[in-house]
Amino acid sequence: NGGGGGAGRLEKILVSVRLRPLSDKEIARGDLAEWECINDTTIISRSTFPDRPTAPTAYSFDRVFRSDCNTKEVYEEGAKAVALSVVSGINSSVFAYGQTSSGKTYTMTGITEHTAADIYDYIAKKGTYVENLTEVILRDSDHLKELISVCEAQRRTGETYLNENSSRSHQILKLTIESSAREFVGKDKSTTLVASVNFIDLAGSERASQALSAGTRLKEGCHINRSLLTLGTVIRKLSKVRNGHIPYRDSKLTRILQPSLGGNARTAIICTMSPARSHMEQSRNTLLFASCAK
Ligand code: ADP
Ligand code: MG
Repeated sequence: NGGGGGAGRLEKILVSVRLRPLSDKEIARGDLAEWECINDTTIISRSTFPDRPTAPTAYSFDRVFRSDCNTKEVYEEGAKAVALSVVSGINSSVFAYGQTSSGKTYTMTGITEHTAADIYDYIAKKGTYVENLTEVILRDSDHLKELISVCEAQRRTGETYLNENSSRSHQILKLTIESSAREFVGKDKSTTLVASVNFIDLAGSERASQALSAGTRLKEGCHINRSLLTLGTVIRKLSKVRNGHIPYRDSKLTRILQPSLGGNARTAIICTMSPARSHMEQSRNTLLFASCAK
């Protein structure tokens, strides 16, 4: 009940894990694939953790994607139902969470493009009039692709100077859609639906676990750590209870996203992972984060 997607209301957060292939760099240094998806919902590690012999080696989620899955498949089953609810006037958020170089940007870029294509497809099919309310009024899905590549290029430029900027910053793309059935366009504003979908390419999750494992107090200015930790708390609380105090105001990220988290809003999280043994500890942290969101 509630997790399957489609037309029904999604009560819980849709949580999936995407394993990427070993990179050339990982292969070159003789790294081995430690993680394996044994079916559509379960991922296992091949070995146990030497220092934690009782830690679980199998983790289950709404969906896990093997390293040979393409982004279209990840979009269709891990994000589409949530992202497209925006055309029915329901706010939503799609997150990519994972350590630096695990595939967050790769995944989120593809998901954004597929969503845009589907939204424009829907407008054709349903004959709905849509006015975009963001700063840039989009002509079509290719126009959005252009904008995304400009943003990515700017971020990359920043990285050259700021030493891997994307691992330290969150990137949010917010699409606001105003829709109305054709017969009402320009006549009856009360029938207009306005909703936003956020695509969030989070900072590298190693930032959060560094803060946690060191057991240190959050330092002034460690906004990224705070954002990731608060996001974890907010999501954990939302997945367990829908009422009660949710600490949205504890970080800038959750404050910005508040209208699209909880309440009637829908959320999907895609946790990206390297299969490499050398990243085992970080990957395990990612799976623990994902488990908390279930
Ligand atoms: P992140 O944003 O998490 O730091 P990236 O999305 O930049 O990571 O991915 C790191 C590298 O791995 C990039 O070169 C990207 O093209 C590649 N990559 C990531 N995921 C996949 C995948 N599923 N299949 C193939 N290559 C991938
Ligand atoms: Mg990135």
